[in-house]
Amino acid sequence: MTARLIDGKAAAATLRARVAGVVHRFLAATSRAPGLAVVLVGEDPASSVYVRAKGKATIEAGMQSFEHKLPADTSEADLLALVDQLNADPAVDGILVQLPLPAQIDANKVITRIDPDKDVDGFHPTNAGRLAIGLPGFVACTPLGCLKLLRAELGDLSGKSAVVIGRSNIVGKPMALLLLGDSATVTVAHSRTKDLASVVRQADIVVAAVGRPEMVKGDWLKPGAIVIDVGINRVDGPEPGKTRLVGDVEFASAAQVAGAITPVPGGVGPMTIACLIRNTLVSAARREGFVLENDL
Ligand code: NDP
Repeated sequence: MTARLIDGKAAAATLRARVAGVVHRFLAATSRAPGLAVVLVGEDPASSVYVRAKGKATIEAGMQSFEHKLPADTSEADLLALVDQLNADPAVDGILVQLPLPAQIDANKVITRIDPDKDVDGFHPTNAGRLAIGLPGFVACTPLGCLKLLRAELGDLSGKSAVVIGRSNIVGKPMALLLLGDSATVTVAHSRTKDLASVVRQADIVVAAVGRPEMVKGDWLKPGAIVIDVGINRVDGPEPGKTRLVGDVEFASAAQVAGAITPVPGGVGPMTIACLIRNTLVSAARREGFVLENDL
């Protein structure tokens, strides 16, 4: 392996510790802790793991965690009523409704019902629009975490050529806008892109958010490229009956060519949760008029 390993776990621990330090001062100044409400509908095992991890990180940062676990057959009206209640609750600074939602609930309707100023996931159309036109708002946690890793690795992204593979509303599109905001030259690739390998080969920065195990190969990369692998894919492991996690990038071959690369697990995933905690603190600070001296 020639690439540097981008340690997302360590970067996330640093960000979380910084947030915890500011939470301490926020508490002293306002006599309350920032609060994050997480809503889980049903018992999807992966979603339950994420919700538990988010609750734990919230408490470790000195914030209040409000967990709402609703049965899988919850009606859309009942979930919307809970969102209304959380919107009105002054102790709640951030609201996150864990996706995916059961089929009887329209996820867009629920996301749009969240107060944009408590939408710490950054999925509300108002926040997507703010990002698109460069206004302050909440940015989706996964692409925000990727941006922080890239800035830490490269410093200035200005003039770098970046390829984002994937154009979802929660990863690919906001990622492309964030890179554009940092003055990278951005290409967004997707399932209709022709000759993806040669598109990727132009890039100084590659962000893979596809959901296809180990699709991006080492020989697609420009030597020295910085590779951020967002993918989380469960595949069969070497031992029968055991699965393992892999990214959207074939790590072994990519690490021979890239300048630096995130591992899966331990890369982007931990930064996503750290950014959620960060966004919740930013929300609380805005709502209380508490000045954050440094950009978190
Ligand atoms: P989506 O399924 O919403 O989007 C996938 C994107 O990849 C689409 O834009 C699709 O193109 C594109 N795509 C699919 N196949 C190809 C192909 N063969 N070549 C090029 N592009 C292709 O996924 P998400 O954005 O939600 O997630 C992407 C990955 O990131 C998943 O593995 C997910 O588990 C992971 N993830 C990880 C997070 C973390 O915290 N680490 C958080 C969120 C997601 P088209 O639009 O044309 O269909």
